[in-house]
Amino acid sequence: HDGQGEHAQHERSAFVQHDGRWYFIDPSVPLRTGRNDPCPCGSDQKFKKCCAAYL
Ligand SMILES: [Zn+2]
Repeated sequence: HDGQGEHAQHERSAFVQHDGRWYFIDPSVPLRTGRNDPCPCGSDQKFKKCCAAYL
């Protein structure tokens, strides 16, 4: 992680930067996580208001 933007591993995992921290977003998460569900990164925001906005 070097802060240069979005990174992806070979398996196309996604990372998002949120409040200055990087979070790993499993590619399967968006399939399970509704946009109105709590964000899997652990914030108290809804997914659509949080990491989904960065993907
Ligand atoms: Zn989030």
